[in-house]
Amino acid sequence: MRTPEPQQWGPGGQPAFSAPSDAAPATAEQCPDRMIEDACDDETLLRFKRLAAEPGIVHAFASRPWNLAPHRGPQRELAVERRRRICAVLGVAFDRITSPQQVHGAEILRVEETDIGAGRLGRAGAVPFVDGLITDRPGVPLVLLSADCPLVLAYDPRRPALGIVHASWLGTAAGITARLVERLHAEFGCDAADLRAAIAPCAGPCCYEVGNEVLRIFRTRFAEGDRFFRPAGDRFLLDLWEANQTQLLSAGVRPERIERADICTICSGRFWSHRRDGADAGRSALFAALVQAAPA
Ligand SMILES: [Zn+2]
Repeated sequence: MRTPEPQQWGPGGQPAFSAPSDAAPATAEQCPDRMIEDACDDETLLRFKRLAAEPGIVHAFASRPWNLAPHRGPQRELAVERRRRICAVLGVAFDRITSPQQVHGAEILRVEETDIGAGRLGRAGAVPFVDGLITDRPGVPLVLLSADCPLVLAYDPRRPALGIVHASWLGTAAGITARLVERLHAEFGCDAADLRAAIAPCAGPCCYEVGNEVLRIFRTRFAEGDRFFRPAGDRFLLDLWEANQTQLLSAGVRPERIERADICTICSGRFWSHRRDGADAGRSALFAALVQAAPA
């Protein structure tokens, strides 16, 4: 078994990188054929194809026009009811929704009994100071919000156990996606080779422009940090899809068990985008829960 090494991702660490991908960056025309689309009232719920075939987990990624953030964006007063609606579709309990506060950090906590229900009504009540949650408890929907930032899910059908992280560029630079694999191993004994992982729609390498200061930080974190950047005038396009997939691979997740939406939230128009819409942006959300085992 390959055990992830936490120290690998510290400053000056030398993570083992996979070979660079030759794939061209996705564009707005690229259809999300990697995901299943289901109508849900006046919105579309998306599911990862291979993850949707796993009997031990339910999940959905919500698109516009539904804003799932009660604390900001259009129709925020409807966000809680929309959360209830998605829970009903998934067959999970709204009251058990558990969310991290999402502070653009890299901390991940294991859900404890007293956390269950935290953040179901909004960010104010969410588990503070963390950007990821892991659990082996069935029937506890983890719900994370996004408007451009990657949400990365990992699921171990053998244990079973589940985790989701909010991998902002800061969190990505701090190695939060590799840490998700490490934390699942440390808390639940998950073998990285058993994990099914998914990277939800987020800012793509076609549009996600950043400054030299971001490149400099990635260089301090990753031996080959440059390869996630392409020059764009005097700025750079950052490939968060590749950066997070690389962390999954380096932590021991098998390549055929990683699903990438490869849908850019900035140019697709189907999702909320903070980069495109600024302070008026709502939030998409990834819901996922371990399924309760049927009584024997
Ligand atoms: Zn784009």
